[in-house]
Amino acid sequence: MEMLSQFQTIGSALFTQGLISSCGGNLSVRFGERLIITRRGSMLGALSGADLVETHIDRNDQSTPLASTELAVHRAIYMATSTQAVVHAHPSYAVALSFTRSVLAPHDVEGKAVLPMVPVLGEDEEIKPGDFAEEIAEALKRVKLVFVRGHGSFAAGQLLEEAYYYTSCLEHSCYLCYLLEAMGEEKQLPRATGEI
Ligand SMILES: [Zn+2]
Repeated sequence: MEMLSQFQTIGSALFTQGLISSCGGNLSVRFGERLIITRRGSMLGALSGADLVETHIDRNDQSTPLASTELAVHRAIYMATSTQAVVHAHPSYAVALSFTRSVLAPHDVEGKAVLPMVPVLGEDEEIKPGDFAEEIAEALKRVKLVFVRGHGSFAAGQLLEEAYYYTSCLEHSCYLCYLLEAMGEEKQLPRATGEI
């Protein structure tokens, strides 16, 4: 699939599934020593060629100011790992659960298999785009997806499709956690344990 259509497919899927608002979230892929990332303020549900910005992973150039406000996080991930693609989204149920949890631990079979433990970074401080770049990159050496409290998910994969799958899987699991909690069942279920 051509590069633009990959971005369009994943951006549109994130938006139609409610995993981002109209101008929320961002996507990138590694491109040699550079990365291609969505433009600052772009609408992921309606991307055009002008919304893709190519810039260096390790230094600024004339395109850098156009890049997503989360560029620092994407760069840190590519520098620390062999990841080829990154999806950042704001999935509502996961954001809601992240306010009160230090990990997001799915109960459903698919969630447990794909994302057994999702670390939640950040405490009560005001979080700005680009925050926790080093911590997110470090965590993504061990897990496929990491969450920033009250903000959103950063998923890493070999393809945008893969990182998108982790994102949608997380939200599905968090929705199920929410339902179980509403039913008064969640506390009775065993929690996943182990190192994250
Ligand atoms: Zn964000």
